Amino acid sequence: MNHAQLTALGRALRLLGEHGEALTGDTPDTRLHEVKADLKRALDLLADSVTGAVPTTRCPEHPNGPVDENAQDLCLLCETRRRAARRSEYNGPSAQPHPSDPTPSRYGVREDRPQPQQRWLPELWNGQAWQLCGTPRRDRHEAELYLAAQRRGPRAAMAYRLVHEFTDYEVLRVWGTPVRVDIEPLGNL
Ligand SMILES: [Zn+2]
Repeated sequence: MNHAQLTALGRALRLLGEHGEALTGDTPDTRLHEVKADLKRALDLLADSVTGAVPTTRCPEHPNGPVDENAQDLCLLCETRRRAARRSEYNGPSAQPHPSDPTPSRYGVREDRPQPQQRWLPELWNGQAWQLCGTPRRDRHEAELYLAAQRRGPRAAMAYRLVHEFTDYEVLRVWGTPVRVDIEPLGNL
């Protein structure tokens, strides 16, 4: 937006504000037509000032990138990156391919192919974020029993959840309400 556009748009928008202030039940139609004309003028000025497409995501890096409805910032590119990071975090460095390993055959025998592994992750809400609170289990029932014991414990957290890790992460159940707790500055004590 150049300076002339900024000035004109600012003036048009302030004028609309004044129309709003002056509006009453007795405002005559002629006046309303004036408002409509001024509104249209402001819209035209805005259309001239705005460049680029309407952003499809809330991601500052990829505002017009592909959309993932389930991502907080709607950005599929960043969500894919975050998923990969979470996966390697959970699986540990051993899951990364070793550069010294021979290049696997394109097809391989069945046993050579990595089997998708599923795990159930017990997590607790620490007041700021969800964090792993126990060993990931290969058995859902075992993970639920573990969480049940945690919830009955003397120092139980505000909330727990069970996350299913498979080809993706899926929250299966949540117990309690995760409320964000601000850390008290020391000066307040
Ligand atoms: Zn992004």
